[in-house]
Amino acid sequence: MKQQTVKKNERYTVDIVDLSYEGLGVAKIDGYPLFIENTLPGEQVEVLVVKAGTKFGYGKVEKFLTTSPDRQDIESTVLLRTGIAPLAHLKYEQQLLFKQKQVEQVLTKIAKMPDVPVLPTIGMEDPVGYRNKAQIPVRRVDGELVTGFYKKNSHDLVEITDFFIQDSKIDQAIIKVREILQRFQVRGYNEEKNEGQIRHIIVRRGHYSHEMMVVLVTRKEKFFKAKEIAEAIHEALPEVVSVIQNINEEKTNVILGKQEKVLYGRSYIEDQLLGKTYRISSKSFYQVNTAQTEVLYQKAIDFAELKKDDVLIDAYSGIGTIGLSLADQVAKVYGMEMIPEAIEDAQFNALTNKIENVHYEVGKAETVMKKWQDKGVKPTVVMVDPPRKGLDASFIDSTIEMKPERIVYISCNPATFARDAKLFAEGGYRLQKVQPVDLFPQTHHIECVGLLTRNK
Ligand code: SAH
Repeated sequence: MKQQTVKKNERYTVDIVDLSYEGLGVAKIDGYPLFIENTLPGEQVEVLVVKAGTKFGYGKVEKFLTTSPDRQDIESTVLLRTGIAPLAHLKYEQQLLFKQKQVEQVLTKIAKMPDVPVLPTIGMEDPVGYRNKAQIPVRRVDGELVTGFYKKNSHDLVEITDFFIQDSKIDQAIIKVREILQRFQVRGYNEEKNEGQIRHIIVRRGHYSHEMMVVLVTRKEKFFKAKEIAEAIHEALPEVVSVIQNINEEKTNVILGKQEKVLYGRSYIEDQLLGKTYRISSKSFYQVNTAQTEVLYQKAIDFAELKKDDVLIDAYSGIGTIGLSLADQVAKVYGMEMIPEAIEDAQFNALTNKIENVHYEVGKAETVMKKWQDKGVKPTVVMVDPPRKGLDASFIDSTIEMKPERIVYISCNPATFARDAKLFAEGGYRLQKVQPVDLFPQTHHIECVGLLTRNK
């Protein structure tokens, strides 16, 4: 093996040859990869090595010698440094192309399916201010509460007021809530010492309904003047219909604790998606980009080519958004999901929308799928929408044995999608096409939907 010669604090002039899946420019120094933030393929830069591991290192630009025509101006490099918007320096058409290519790459490398068509990424007309949810850390600096975001791979909080990709009403709400907490002298959390009170402010805002939920994550259950604070929040922000205290006593990176109390109003907000109304509780998953989620789910429904007598399984159902959107086009929908609160929401949402042909169960997808298989449930279509780690191998086995005609796979991680598509292919299914839909503009996150059909 070649000796690694690149060392920390050295300077080099390098050409950027690639963009990593996380949106970092890649340069090679005698074959040694250096990842450099805020650079793009084709650019030449003078770089300072800030970290040099055995296999790869990180560099920081000191000077641009040339810049790419694909580059766009950004308000502040904080968006890159915090990882809020790591692709913000790349023109939007190029972001969409980058995501399509990433999907093609994993299908070739991981699934060994170089010939499956990957359609052009469907983007947004106005790809900013789209997030309907924010989870913002609160710290105390020199006696003042500060809200912002951490620098990547660190716990240094950078103060931010304009989060660029969030609904601007949410940005404004965070500042208002912070001011109210300051006024009531609530102490900001100190991570190292695990002391202080307020850890995070979480805000959700309905895209159509404009209903707002504020969750105050506190370290202790005892929360002095909690009700008055909640009232003050509602008064300052009339859209707020729900203020919740979530208690997290642990010294942990996990944001939410188990225990919650409603301090003002209801325990949920409502919003609409594809014409149906949904109740969304604080702990339930809900896609952060509502407009693009409608595009994505409509694609998934189109891919499924639904018929009146179809029996459909909506796996990883969350609050039921996918299954309930299509229930009136099929005979029966079965849904499962791990979080009990989400299933309660799904059942409530079925009632609200007067949908009767659905059945929900709480549990791990792999366990419930096996149970349904043993009971003789015979789906004709299976839709899956798993978290980043993808499907459990046993889930794939059960699905293959249940012989649905079509499997529609919604994925937020192309690498695990490709891995799973390969297993389905080995079980007699063919991946017909994949459609990336940009749910996360300005970031490196990729969402796509794939159609698998059973070989005759
Ligand atoms: N289809 C829903 C939710 C998708 S997100 C929507 O579009 O809104 C993935 C969901 O899977 C989350 O709600 C999460 O709670 C759930 N989940 C994660 N791991 C699971 C598992 N092993 N079994 C069942 N559900 C799981």
